[in-house]
Amino acid sequence: MNKKTEQHFSWEYAEENEAFRNAVATMEKNGTRKWVYAKKPAGKYTNYRTILSVILLALLVILPLITLPNGNPIFKFDVFNTQFVLFGYPFFTTDFFLLAFGMIICVVFVILFTTVYGRIFCGWFCPQTIFLEFVFRKIEYLIEGDRNKQMRLDKQEWNEEKIIKRGSKWFIYYLISFFVVNILMAYIVGMDFLKSMYRDSPSEHIGKFIGMFIFSWLFFFVFAWFREQACTLVCPYGRLQGVLIDKHTMQVSYDYKRGEGRSKFRKNEDRKALGKGDCIDCGQCVAVCPTGIDIRNGSQLECVNCTACMDACDEVMEKINLPKGLIRYASEDNIKEGKPFQVSIRMVVFSVILLAMVAGLGAFVMNRSDVEAKFLQIPGSDYKEEGSLIVNTLQYSLMNKTNQSHQLKAIVLSHPKSKVELVSDRHQMIYIEAGELKQGFVKVKIPRSELSSYKELIHIQLVDENNRTIDTYKISFMAPFDIGND
Ligand code: SF4
Ligand code: SF4
Repeated sequence: MNKKTEQHFSWEYAEENEAFRNAVATMEKNGTRKWVYAKKPAGKYTNYRTILSVILLALLVILPLITLPNGNPIFKFDVFNTQFVLFGYPFFTTDFFLLAFGMIICVVFVILFTTVYGRIFCGWFCPQTIFLEFVFRKIEYLIEGDRNKQMRLDKQEWNEEKIIKRGSKWFIYYLISFFVVNILMAYIVGMDFLKSMYRDSPSEHIGKFIGMFIFSWLFFFVFAWFREQACTLVCPYGRLQGVLIDKHTMQVSYDYKRGEGRSKFRKNEDRKALGKGDCIDCGQCVAVCPTGIDIRNGSQLECVNCTACMDACDEVMEKINLPKGLIRYASEDNIKEGKPFQVSIRMVVFSVILLAMVAGLGAFVMNRSDVEAKFLQIPGSDYKEEGSLIVNTLQYSLMNKTNQSHQLKAIVLSHPKSKVELVSDRHQMIYIEAGELKQGFVKVKIPRSELSSYKELIHIQLVDENNRTIDTYKISFMAPFDIGND
């Protein structure tokens, strides 16, 4: 195609095909909902997604059942008691900076990831897509049949067949919704507490049961009726696509250069010689689309990159002996330049940045001490002298971030002949419960001969009953002015 023809084609193509932007694919002209009867997809990408979905769903169910050797679950989001566990590490409100850091990383991650890989998350990892396509729609296909049978059933009277099919489908949908809400509850209160809720009298946990009941119906509503509207109308991530995706972004794309002008398939016809494109206008890509759009109109906000149209079109191409990939993962530039998708330098650089950010957050979390210690000078206080010892009274604040109690002892690491004495505790060990915030006073006594300055930086170390270092804190130790100024 020469440049003039190409310009003419693009302009004409755009004018003819932009009309779809004036309407919502899932809305009739009179404003009522146009139900999407998505055809059952099949093919290479659907198989990969099925495997991934089975793994993710299995993890969702299994993870709350696992208790780690440190006694923690892998994840816990107990909003009722503000107890949070991520990858086995407990987090408290004092970890606010980690949460803030984690959220910043998440935002940057989402922006960079989407700019490079488009909506891969929506198609492959999003819980909404996984539940809808690999749980609820599978049951629908099983009970009501594929697209055409569903359409027929929808149109027919509420006879015995329709009541049984719809009734059994909705009943199973509700059972699954209730089961999923129980699983989600296990992530909030923990599996042991969830079991106790069923053992105890319901009146003891009535608030939680009411919440579960409401959420189970909400879940049911989303998957039985609301469906793709959650992605196209509600999901904020979907709305962001317009600003995050550019012409280099990898996404499910229709190769309009190869596919247009589309025309119906005729046997023994030389389409190339007749100037016809490879798209045979069979509509299979539209029929399988769970959001009801036509990918041939170009990238659209409604596309969740589920790959169903890629599989459908590949199957058609195979049947008519044309190369697969008329709809494929490609960037706008790849399609325009007629190049296959390639890993670009930008992808590599952004991916390295993403991995570095995740590793950074992981390192932060792993290096977090079990008990966070703070030792502070008491405002207005001064040093004291006890014979050859210089004494500072410090206020301590300890936060036990584990679910185990500890017995701790403080030592001054930098001054071996020093002593640390607890004020008002003759045991000289600090006992701190799991998750407890403990405050008190200590006297730090350092021989004058060990000090080299009137304001010396000392390292106070906390060790547990097994002599394991728990945390170290640096603080200025006050001493007479003549030390270091002789
Ligand atoms: S499935 Fe492929 S050939 Fe059929 S209409 Fe879609 S793009 Fe064209
Ligand atoms: S256009 Fe294709 S990839 Fe996008 S939602 Fe529809 S079927 Fe999925």
